[in-house]
Amino acid sequence: MADLERYSLPLAGESSIGSRTPLAEVAAGSTARPEGAYIHVPFCRHKCHYCDFYSFVDTQDRQEAFVARLEDELEHATDLGATVGSRLVTVFIGGGTPTLLRPPLLARMLAAVRRCLPLAPDADLEWTVEANPETVDAEIAAVLAAGGVNRVSLGAQSFDPQSLRALERDHRIESVAAALGHLREAGITNLNLDLIFGIPGSTLESWRGDLEAALALEPEHLSAYGLTYEPNTPLATKEARGEIEAVEEDLEASMYEDACNRLAAAGFERYEISNWARPGRACLHNLLYWRNRSWLAFGPSASGHLDGLRFKVVPRLGEWLDSKDPWPLSEWERLDEHGAFGEELMLGLRLTEGVDTAWLEDRLARCDAGGERRRALESALADGRLEQIGTRLRLTQRGTLLANTLLADLV
Ligand code: SF4
Repeated sequence: MADLERYSLPLAGESSIGSRTPLAEVAAGSTARPEGAYIHVPFCRHKCHYCDFYSFVDTQDRQEAFVARLEDELEHATDLGATVGSRLVTVFIGGGTPTLLRPPLLARMLAAVRRCLPLAPDADLEWTVEANPETVDAEIAAVLAAGGVNRVSLGAQSFDPQSLRALERDHRIESVAAALGHLREAGITNLNLDLIFGIPGSTLESWRGDLEAALALEPEHLSAYGLTYEPNTPLATKEARGEIEAVEEDLEASMYEDACNRLAAAGFERYEISNWARPGRACLHNLLYWRNRSWLAFGPSASGHLDGLRFKVVPRLGEWLDSKDPWPLSEWERLDEHGAFGEELMLGLRLTEGVDTAWLEDRLARCDAGGERRRALESALADGRLEQIGTRLRLTQRGTLLANTLLADLV
């Protein structure tokens, strides 16, 4: 969905890619205790031109088969036995556009999640569904609330008509407020809005307008990502042909700094490079990703992690529907200690809380034989991209603007 909160890592194992193995077999011997579950619904009303998520235009004819197949996959989760012995404290249903499912099918999917997965009691559970504003009416909101959903993430992206056109978004500006109204009326009050900055044709003024419009709707959480030109998307093709022009880097940096300042003034805490929340409203599911915890994954193209084992469900709907394997994977990989450390460091530094210096020293001593990561960290400390506050090492505000290069070096 429009929501960019999802996180996935490229899986790079060689010998482990290409064949099929039930997840129960892959996870054999794992002592992981997953704390969350991600479920991917690949249907959308329209394909936005910047989007490289696994999603395609829904023709309504495969929704029922999708839900039936997902029920099988969820039921198979019990085969993981001790692995799912723990209670899940987060569920995140993303896509695609989960709220595009017809109401009875959406209700059936939510019921299957509750029936098959070992969920924590409602009071301890964060259950998020992503939504395109245009798909949320009173009926859908009621189905979500009745099914146990208590958080919704809406892809607003911009409140500027020209920017929405540049992104080829398929929703009206006024539908964001209408969707929030329906959700609140149904009792769902933990709400996120996604925004994108650096859209071709946008200006600092139009971005400030987006921030003000979003704040006026009083969400509990805001995500703001710079537009990326993902390979093989129509947006990237248009840029390559010179039909659109990316905004200048300096302007994009000013937009990000503006977001930091304005959202802080409005009482939001930035807890990750691109995510802000009212106190106590950080997205617990995304924190699982950044803290390198374990989560299950269901639905075509969904990626999961079990204590160092990363896996991905086959990213093709037809193959996933037809597979005889109850939980068909396309890729899985167990990182070695060096790789796992790089990943954990990269993820941890995305968070405002940063990483613990004693943990870092211990891991550097064990895994950084060539001293490369130590040198990258020391250089970033020296030039002000990183700072040490007490026992935590974290990005400075300048460092967040340059985070991609530094984090890539550390991986
Ligand atoms: S709504 Fe647009 S951005 Fe979101 S998954 Fe669908 S095509 Fe991608």
